[in-house]
Parts: sequence; C-alpha cells; structure tokens
Amino acid sequence: TKAGGSRDRDHLGAGRCRPSKIGASRRPPPARVRVAVRLRPFVDGTVGASDTPCVRGMDSCSLEIANWRNHQETLKYQFDAFYGERSTQQDIYAGSVQPILRHLLEGQNASVLAYGPTGAGKTHTMLGSPEQPGVIPRALMDLLQLTREEGAEGRPWALSVTMSYLEIYQEKVLDLLDSTSGDLVIREDCRGNILIPGLTQKPITSFADFERHFLPASRNRTVGATRLNQRSSRSHAVLLVKVDQRERLAPFRQREGKLYLIDLAGSEDNRRTGNKGLRLKESGAINASLFVLGKVVDALNQGLPRVPYRDSKLTRLLQDSLGGSAHSILIANIAPERHFYLDTVSALNFAARTKEVINRPFTNESLQPHVLGPVKLSQKELLGPPEAKRARGPEEEEIGSLEPMAASASASQKLSPLQKLSSMDPAMLERLLSLDRLLASQGSQGAPLLSTPKRERMVLMKTVEEKDLEIERLKMKQKELEAKVLAQKAEDSKEKENHCPTILRPLLHRTVTVAKPLKKAVVMPLQLIQEQAASPNAEIHILKNKGRKRKLESLDAPEPEEKAEDCWELQISPELLAHGRQKILDLLNEGSARDLRSLQRIGPKKAQLIVGWRELHGPFSQVEDLERVEGITGKQMESFLKANILGLAAGQRCGPS
Ligand code: ADP
Ligand code: MG
Repeated sequence: TKAGGSRDRDHLGAGRCRPSKIGASRRPPPARVRVAVRLRPFVDGTVGASDTPCVRGMDSCSLEIANWRNHQETLKYQFDAFYGERSTQQDIYAGSVQPILRHLLEGQNASVLAYGPTGAGKTHTMLGSPEQPGVIPRALMDLLQLTREEGAEGRPWALSVTMSYLEIYQEKVLDLLDSTSGDLVIREDCRGNILIPGLTQKPITSFADFERHFLPASRNRTVGATRLNQRSSRSHAVLLVKVDQRERLAPFRQREGKLYLIDLAGSEDNRRTGNKGLRLKESGAINASLFVLGKVVDALNQGLPRVPYRDSKLTRLLQDSLGGSAHSILIANIAPERHFYLDTVSALNFAARTKEVINRPFTNESLQPHVLGPVKLSQKELLGPPEAKRARGPEEEEIGSLEPMAASASASQKLSPLQKLSSMDPAMLERLLSLDRLLASQGSQGAPLLSTPKRERMVLMKTVEEKDLEIERLKMKQKELEAKVLAQKAEDSKEKENHCPTILRPLLHRTVTVAKPLKKAVVMPLQLIQEQAASPNAEIHILKNKGRKRKLESLDAPEPEEKAEDCWELQISPELLAHGRQKILDLLNEGSARDLRSLQRIGPKKAQLIVGWRELHGPFSQVEDLERVEGITGKQMESFLKANILGLAAGQRCGPS
C-alpha cells in the first residue's frame, strides 16, 4: 500500500544514511519497528496439551486464529515475519535478529524485545536452554566474534564490548549485576544518548566472560521460589550490550552501538486471572509500561510527530534504541492452547496495531474442524459478567477492522462510499478526518482516506461538530436532571422530618408507571431488560407496560429516598436505555480521552485508563467491561452507568414528558 510503502522506504533510508552518531542530526527520521510473531508448540504435560490448536500459520508472514464470536470464521493477521510451531531457535535468530547486529558496528543501536503472555515462550526465545540456545547467547556469540575480527590488530578500529543487566520492576530500574543497588535513574546526555549512571558495566571479551556475569544473575531471576517466578513474569529483564569503537588513526573517531535484548513482562490480563492486592498493583505497573511501549511503537510506525518515550521507564530507557536510526524487532510470542486464547488475541492485537490486516480480519471462510477446532470458552473465560455479549453485525466488524488504523489503500476502498460514511460512528469518522488532515498537512500526495468530494466532507465535518455539541447538551441535561433529583431528595427529607413517622408521604403525589411494587431499578443489558419485561414477577422493572399504570402507594415503597431517584429512571423505556448504553459503548470504543471526559464521573485519569485499556485489549464489547479497566471498581462502574446511561437516553428522546 502507499502508506506502508513509504514507511518502508523511510526505514531503509534511515538504516543506510547514518554512518555514525558523530555529526549526524539529532532527530533522524523515525524508523519502523519490525514485528514478528512466534507460535510455540504444545508443551508436553501442561494444561491443554491435547487441545486442537486455535492458531495456525498461513505463510511466512501471516497467521489466522479462530474467532470465538463465530466458529465458522477466523481472524487473520499479517506481520513482518511469522514463525510457526516447528520453527527453530536458529530460524528466529537468523531471520529476525542476526541481520541487525552488523549495524552495531556502524555505531547504531538495536533492540530485540520478546512480548507475550507468561508461558508463551518469551524466555525460551530470548534465553533458551543449553540444548536450544535462544537469541541472547546466539547474538552474544556472533557479536563477540564480529568484534574480534573487526577489531583485530591492523584493522582501523579497536573494539571493546561491555554488558549490563537490569530489571524494570514496578517502574524501578534495578541492577541485576549488583544486588545492592537501589532504583537507578535514567538520564539523557547532550547528544541525546540515554544512560544510567551507576549501572554496572562488565567488559567481556569472550562468551565465557559473558556467561560468568549473566548466568548467576539470570538464574536468580528465572528459577527458585515461586515468588521470584511471579516477579520474573512481572518485570522486564533488560540485557544491554555495548560495542565501543575507537579509530586507531586520525581523526580518532569514536563510535558506540548499543544492543538491548529484552524479555518483557507477561502481557496477560491479570484482572482475568483474578490476581489481587500487590499483584494487581504490579500488573498495573507492568501494564503501564507495556501500554506505553505499544504507544511508542505505534507512534514510530505511523510517523507521528510525538513519540511518548518519557511516559514509562522502559521506553525512556529505549528512547535512543527504538526509532531514529535504531533497528528494532518485537517478537510477539503466542501459545496454541485454548486457555491462552484471549491473551493470544490481545497479544496479536498489540503486535498488529499498526500493521495492515489482510483483507478483513473476519472472513467468511470455513476451517477444517480437525485442523482448527472451534474455540469454546467458558463464560468465565469470556471475561465479563454472564450476560451475552452484544452480537455484532458484519458491517460493524468491518469498521472495527480499521482499528489497527492502517492508513492503507484498502481502508480508503472500504470507506469511499458516502452512504457508509454517513452511517459510521461519528468518533471514528472524526478520527479518519483528522488523520486525513494530518496527512494533507504533511504534504501527502496519496488519495485521502475518505475519498469523498469536498462538499460532502464539509457536511460530514459539520455533522461531527454537531454531535460534539449534542454531547455537550446531553451533559447539561444530565446535570439538570441530577439537580432536580437532588432538590427532590432535599424536599423529601424535609417533609420526612415534618411528617415522621409517615415518611413516605411525598411519594403519594407522584404517579409512577409500574407493573408491581418496585424493589430496585437496575440498569441492565438490553437482552436482560427484554427478558425481564417478559416476566412480570421479576424483581427488576424497567417500565414498559403503560396499561398497568397505578399509583405508588406509600406502603408500597419502603425506601423512599431510593425511590425518589428511581422514579425518573423508570419512565425511560428499554429502547432508550439500550440507546444510552450503545452511546456509551460507542464513546468507550471510539472516543478520545477528551470525549470520554464529557461523560459523568470520568476525569482525566480514568479517561486515560480507558483509552489505555482499549489500546491493549481492543474494543469494549459491553459497557460492563469498564469494570475490567485497572482502577475502576464494580461499584464505580455501576455508578458511572447510572449517571450516564439515563442522561444520554433521556436527553436523546424523552422530551418534556
Ligand atoms: P515465558 O517466558 O513467555 O513465560 P517460557 O519461555 O518460560 O515462557 O515458556 C514456557 C514453557 O514452554 C517452557 O517450558 C519452555 O521451555 C516451553 N517453550 C516455549 N517455547 C517453546 C518452543 N518454541 N519450543 C519448545 N518449547 C517451548
Ligand atoms: Mg519468562
């Protein structure tokens, strides 16, 4: 595609045109981060070893995974490389890592990052075993060999290699070669090089030297007590190998190339595995780092003007080794077992965020059942509360497929008909429009993402603006309603004092449409609302049946305070509630942090958390997923729904009734 092609050119250009750091401009064009996926084989004796795989490779760059929403379909992904379950350590090393090593001798930086859920093979890929050595020992062997040859007597440059080994745990930088060190600081020198003052640097001239320092530290980290294992899956292990070069003759130049080899923290959703307390806090910190890493890779690969390196320790450390003239590869490790399914999808989405997706992620293609069994997940595995997920139509999926935001030609083909645009979510539309504007302002000659005539575009822009205004209006309305309820409450409690003990009098004046005495009105998913409406004896009543109007007598309402609040809720029909829910869901999925702040009970911090969660896990399938966002409790989620659904629904269609 056009956009992808130009990014590739940038990458190659950046790779070739910067011979050394000296004299080079400080801000070279950002380079693309390569992304490879490695599927490990089933591991004997572990849970799910007899499953049929739910992932399978298609060719050397693409794979497909079963779609739990529809067993007849698969999700397809394309990457720079795909390594299947039969791939060897040598395949990964030779295919994705070895080619970048020579750049270190040109004074450029490189990084290799293993990403993926715990148990998917990150450590196997990076470290491996004595029988199957991974990327780290192979790279060290080759690099030491290379430096010996290049730095031999009589050659123009003298070379030396040093190593450091550190861990980022809960956003603290810890020296693994010196267990007495505390949290180290990351600094940037005047030339933009990132350094860590006080970090141990061991000179190494042979592989034996390397092993002598690395193995004990590494063993401490990966084996031993369970607690350490947990820690190891929750921290980022960073091996730094520096190659220093000094020119033997005038003009005595110096060069430094840094290689980062990183075994990242597990990307699994700890919320789903039910972690509590400290571990939850740990996972929060990990998620923050992985989240920013995703943002950085995203920004680099899209050529965005701001790359948020400073937003986490990990990316700050990698600032001079990701992007710029650096050469980076992210290896996303995935596992074939079904109980990994959700983590696998989330890892693939992370890896694919800026990749073009082949055709569409949902294709109507059947699979031979014996090759790729349908994924049957228990309700528990399907994350949320037991309500059924909102079923998506094919059109929504198609729009959803733009989520990885590949500014691709296929996107413009898909979106060009105006009819489709007008039925599109305004937030998505706004994003496409602003992306178009950005591309235009950068002098892009390519076809706009939205290939609609100018006049229609103006109309669309206006629609988007109107929607924004509408959101503002709804917010005001919500506030008014809340104020009304508060006023009513105050009045009620005043009368309560006056008329004690007949505390329920005020309610005599109010007519409420109810089917039965109310216990409590609860905001429910659409499907449940419909079920409830069909069963008149249920405890939850959201009003539908106008024919059975009756007065709410004082004795029928034992909890007047709550009633006062519920009364106006109850005048809202299920369709309106569902409408409100849908609006919230759309906002959660498409709204920017700023849009989200237009919602009640969502401040800047929560808005950021929501956007972050979405980046990591993909779209919310129902509003209750909000509870899965780090830092939002079930209670907060409920009060959020209460504050917003009704406001949005009521503001939309209720009118003065
Ligand atoms: P992670 O570091 O992502 O938590 P590990 O690397 O520890 O995962 O892998 C989990 C288990 O799977 C280990 O027993 C490891 O030896 C095995 N394993 C991982 N990848 C492979 C592979 N490609 N081939 C064979 N075994 C593997
Ligand atoms: Mg590991």
